[in-house]
Amino acid sequence: MSLDKITNPMHVRHWLGDMEADYIYTLGVAGERFFKEIKENGRIMGAKCPRCNIIYVPPRMYCEKCFARLEGWVDVGTKGVVHTFTVATIDVDGKKLQKPEIYALIKFDGTCGGLIHKIGETKLEKVKIGMKVEAVFKPSFERKASINDIKHFKPAE
Ligand code: ZN
Repeated sequence: MSLDKITNPMHVRHWLGDMEADYIYTLGVAGERFFKEIKENGRIMGAKCPRCNIIYVPPRMYCEKCFARLEGWVDVGTKGVVHTFTVATIDVDGKKLQKPEIYALIKFDGTCGGLIHKIGETKLEKVKIGMKVEAVFKPSFERKASINDIKHFKPAE
């Protein structure tokens, strides 16, 4: 890397491209199976470390603490708890949303990590940290092996 001061803007290199098309993220082996379980079985899975007994959601290939390979997967259920949340009033393009959307970090009992997803079927005033929520899945024929196969999380008992 050069720290020379740029005095002639013509010397700045640039490439024209398409951010969406040029940067394709792959899910990785663990991510692929995670979304396949959501699509085909409506299950949220975690990967359990055989040494530390930590369950990672979403699953990973290796344990963060001891680097053990994680091969044992466990069904963590479809109910979680709102760990934190925020309210979006504009969309990704900066346009005002017709209705504010609530996004939460949802944690699953006894696991490490969590999922960020929309909270639905409730009012903003009712959303609280620590509230129990449950995944609402799209009908199976609409699922595409993505996080959006979960429509949202709704309040749970
Ligand atoms: Zn471990």
